Amino acid sequence: MTISILAVLFLAVILVISFVGFRAIIRQGKDPADINKEKCSICRTQFNRSQLIERQIGDYRLLHFCQSCIMSLHNEMLSKN
Ligand SMILES: [Zn+2]
Repeated sequence: MTISILAVLFLAVILVISFVGFRAIIRQGKDPADINKEKCSICRTQFNRSQLIERQIGDYRLLHFCQSCIMSLHNEMLSKN
């Protein structure tokens, strides 16, 4: 009796793990639409990659800037001169 309960529990655990894994795979399947999206490094708003300017800082850091942040940087620079 104890062994059959353990077996059922074991099966349930396997089912839960496979279900969670399956959902993770489905979510990854949705990713291609999100691959083109990136957050602006300044305002953290999500934009399409085509709307952002990309700059690599150092060897690994990749920064993205949206139009409104670039404009505000531009205005800040203009107001300095
Ligand atoms: Zn921004």
